[in-house]
Amino acid sequence: MEVPYLDLKAQYLAHREEFDTAIQKVIDKTAFAGGPFVQKFEEDFAEYCQTKHAIGVSSGTSALWIALLALGVGPGDEVITTPNTFIATAEAISFAGATPVFVDIDEQTYNIDPAAIEAAITPKTKALIPVHLFGQMADMAPIMAIAKRHKLFVIEDASQAHGAYYNGRRAGSIADVGCFSFYPGKNLGAFGEAGGIVTNNSELAAKMRMIRDHGQSKKYHHRIVGWNGRMDGIQGAVLSVKLKYIDQWNELRRQHAHQYDNLLMTLPDVITPFVASYGTPVYHIYPVRVAHRDEVLSAMGKLGARCGIHYPVPLHLQEAYADLGHKEGDFPISERCSSEYLSLPMFPELTPSQILHVATSLKEVTKEFPRPEGSSANANGEQANNYKITSIVS
Ligand SMILES: *Cc1c(COP(=O)(O)O)cnc(C)c1O
Repeated sequence: MEVPYLDLKAQYLAHREEFDTAIQKVIDKTAFAGGPFVQKFEEDFAEYCQTKHAIGVSSGTSALWIALLALGVGPGDEVITTPNTFIATAEAISFAGATPVFVDIDEQTYNIDPAAIEAAITPKTKALIPVHLFGQMADMAPIMAIAKRHKLFVIEDASQAHGAYYNGRRAGSIADVGCFSFYPGKNLGAFGEAGGIVTNNSELAAKMRMIRDHGQSKKYHHRIVGWNGRMDGIQGAVLSVKLKYIDQWNELRRQHAHQYDNLLMTLPDVITPFVASYGTPVYHIYPVRVAHRDEVLSAMGKLGARCGIHYPVPLHLQEAYADLGHKEGDFPISERCSSEYLSLPMFPELTPSQILHVATSLKEVTKEFPRPEGSSANANGEQANNYKITSIVS
């Protein structure tokens, strides 16, 4: 049996007419760059995220960059994030002229460890960017408390967490600003490149709108030096269609994760994902941890179970960030996890028999690649079992 890692075609085909009609409307109106379809999506997305404002932009990377610029982060400033994320989080900090400062992750949630943040704060620290990695939220309450104590801005990188909850609050709605990617493979994915920013701060929203559109206060009147960071009309229209289904799709992802949990958590050589009691995850990725990961990945592929790795190299060990002067051992939890992560196929249209095939394959394959003695406890299994899919509150 072949199980793809991702199947974007299935989602398109399930609502083909609706998508085609929405796209045709944009073409009929020639509303290609920004315009009414983007504005409609912004209204819909702000409501979805429980925020006052949403701003459509050209990508998740530009969302983060525009947010940092609007908050006045620039040369000489430091911004704290984790090395266990996609490189865009750090790139945005670098492109704002600031320096990324890394803090290691919590080994259960794979998100920034709030207890380790304060030791990394210096007089230059201007902001924190917690990342809700894999669709599970970072522990925002202690993060916001630290930010308040040290007068720091907080930007949520919610690029993998559209619709996730933290104690009843939507991802992106808790900090000063929330940033989203609508890259096609994300839980809410455009038919091209796109991103979004949400905030409850009206002044900040106005500034981010200006930066996104060449610093214009009105057409050809440029108050500040901005950029072209607009979303295009077709993406706005497609995203408005998809927003109607996102909660349904996320619920399917949770059901799939639950099936994986039940099949995998008793295996001695597989660590399944932990679910923090404070939130409802949306499983952008279903990551397990295994020893001899690269061998396991290729053996899984031979059985038709297409897996991925998110991410194989933590940011502090990337060549691009060699100038930060880090070495192996600086962030041991991120390093250990990066060497063990294996992302199993995860998308709403997965079938129970496909999940069974992936889980059965993993059971067979890991028999040949056991975890070393003493590291075989599935620390997360018991907890995951207590997580009742039916008890999700929204
Ligand atoms: C995808 C992603 C981004 C970047 O988004 P793009 O739309 O690809 O620019 C940023 N941060 C995280 C955590 C992501 O997963």
